[in-house]
Amino acid sequence: MGAALEIRNLHVSVEDKPILRGVNLTVKQGEVHALMGPNGSGKSTLANVLLGHPAYHVTAGQVIFDGNDLLELEADERSRAGLFLAFQYPVVIPGVTLANFLRQALNSRLKAANPESKGISIPEFRRLLKSKMDYLKMDHSFAGRYLNEGFSGGEKKRAEILQMAMLEPRITILDETDSGLDIDALRIVAEGVDKLKGPDLGVLVITHYQRILNYIKPQFVHIMFEGQIAESGGPDLALHLEEHGYDWVREKYGTA
Ligand code: ADP
Ligand code: MG
Repeated sequence: MGAALEIRNLHVSVEDKPILRGVNLTVKQGEVHALMGPNGSGKSTLANVLLGHPAYHVTAGQVIFDGNDLLELEADERSRAGLFLAFQYPVVIPGVTLANFLRQALNSRLKAANPESKGISIPEFRRLLKSKMDYLKMDHSFAGRYLNEGFSGGEKKRAEILQMAMLEPRITILDETDSGLDIDALRIVAEGVDKLKGPDLGVLVITHYQRILNYIKPQFVHIMFEGQIAESGGPDLALHLEEHGYDWVREKYGTA
């Protein structure tokens, strides 16, 4: 039995304003889900709650990950349990390369699992990094880039996919960047997900951008609207969205 992320009747408020109003969603290892919906529907709020962002208050409901109460876990414990939540830039330390950052992330994972662990050796890490970059068809020089030297949207996504490949999570949640994804970044995410998906990985891609469905072929598509999952379906729903956009969702479920 694979691990599952189960979101049950989740209600979330920000500054006492209810944003999520009873979200139900289950993502299992081996499944690819797309969570879509117009701007302001609450998609990033969901991602932020799963991340443990302090501004978001769970007022009701539960999130279960692999049988445990996810909301009780610290951010690093969530990651250790096998949940990958986008690329969290570490507090930007000048002079840290992407490779260094990835090695630290891997080592803290190993040390958490076994306090005696001395971490991964540098040669072993280099081999692993190289093989993952080859698999993802990434230029090796990319890992030598400094984290604080302004990555483009596409490069941030590429770094995120590489981090995911290195940490081998069981469930991964990818939220679009605040500015939305440009087409280059979209392609990088889609190709990365396509390469890494498999029976051991569950994926939830969050975006308002219908075009992502030209690149990622999710088995499950969900539409969030006003803090609830208004519709769920398969690839057909994705095709419908591509053709008709969100206007019909507003007409069907809009309260304003
Ligand atoms: P989406 O990602 O679907 O575009 P968001 O989750 O970002 O939607 O936003 C949903 C609603 O919650 C919006 O009305 C937004 O203004 C509000 N919201 C989200 N985060 C915050 C925050 N940190 N402070 C205040 N309001 C917020
Ligand atoms: Mg958002």
